[in-house]
Amino acid sequence: MKSNVFSLRAELADSIVDVPVSNSLHVFIGGYEMLVKKGAKVQRGQALAVHPRPDVGLANAPVSGKVSSLDFAYLSIKAGKDGDPVEPIDLESLAPGEELNQGLHDLGISVGRIREAETLVINGLNPQPSVTIAEQLLRDEAETISLGLSLVRKAINPKRCVLAAGTGSYRLEGCTTQVVKPVYPNSLPPMVLKAVTGKEVPESTVGFSVHKLWQIGHVLRTGRAIDETVFTLNGGNYRARIGTPLVDILDFANVEIHPGDRLVLSGPMTGYSVFNVEHGIEKNVFSVNVVPKNAYPPMEDRPCINCGECVLHCPARLQPNLIARYAEYGMFERARECGLDACMECGLCSYWCPALRPMQHYIGFAKQQLHPQSGNAPTGWMH
Ligand code: SF4
Ligand code: SF4
Repeated sequence: MKSNVFSLRAELADSIVDVPVSNSLHVFIGGYEMLVKKGAKVQRGQALAVHPRPDVGLANAPVSGKVSSLDFAYLSIKAGKDGDPVEPIDLESLAPGEELNQGLHDLGISVGRIREAETLVINGLNPQPSVTIAEQLLRDEAETISLGLSLVRKAINPKRCVLAAGTGSYRLEGCTTQVVKPVYPNSLPPMVLKAVTGKEVPESTVGFSVHKLWQIGHVLRTGRAIDETVFTLNGGNYRARIGTPLVDILDFANVEIHPGDRLVLSGPMTGYSVFNVEHGIEKNVFSVNVVPKNAYPPMEDRPCINCGECVLHCPARLQPNLIARYAEYGMFERARECGLDACMECGLCSYWCPALRPMQHYIGFAKQQLHPQSGNAPTGWMH
């Protein structure tokens, strides 16, 4: 396999293209508790649902309209006329700490608790191969990113601020730019952190992706909940309202999808498949990939052949074969003793396994069993 498969650099699109607002939007609300009922009239920015985890932002209405259907996974809104606008939140007037965290949460931003730290790291590397959104945002949305950064700096009060990027041509005011070799998995938060600080578990360091800073800058400017996301699709970068059905996005971008193809959200290496072309795009999704049928052989619960490929390629220096096997047999504590929590869910063990074992799925399953409340986030330190 050629190593350029993992390159994180590619030509940028001329600009970010706006996807038209759909007639019907489907906001993903799996795991949320509803604040509105079917038939309710909602205004753009209105809170729709709250997540039991306090670090997860509210689900807010991306358009004004009427709640046309509601089930365990989706809240659908038929777009209509704007009524009384939702009262904006002036984030700059909020005191850093609980007040600001609550304001961001209410505007739909999932950042957990922003705390003071000596070092602030901005992850400006494109997150995964074939995804160019970080560089496109740095080039085209620098003003919004800088706005988000100004608020984050106020809250964190860092002595040092570093932009980690795949090239030295990107700058953010008040930050030094550090070039990190743009090859996957160097874009993963723990890898960026180590590249910048030289430590695997650095003290007093907080990280943000440029996608998150863009979100924060967006809600700071409008005072309204985050209602759109930007993402890479087929070499281009697009902006769409949250909840826009994937089928509408694919139609607009002239990307064909055929029976048996897979729709993968948020990256070819660590993303997840969705099974419904009507699935509404989510606020943290940074890419949409159409994987043609038969592009990869299917993964199955085949036995490990002890070839050691996964061990050789694991950037966390783990023994993924052992961890996955313990997870497969429900021995989650043993998986933890083998370093489960140090796994950054890069997907490389799955990628390289010649037996096509679903390594990352086993590992994610074990994490979920051991930490049901914390969700399955690969890292806790970078927002
Ligand atoms: S996903 Fe696999 S290769 Fe990646 S860090 Fe975890 S165990 Fe290692
Ligand atoms: S790469 Fe797959 S087959 Fe090889 S040791 Fe790892 S789990 Fe086993």
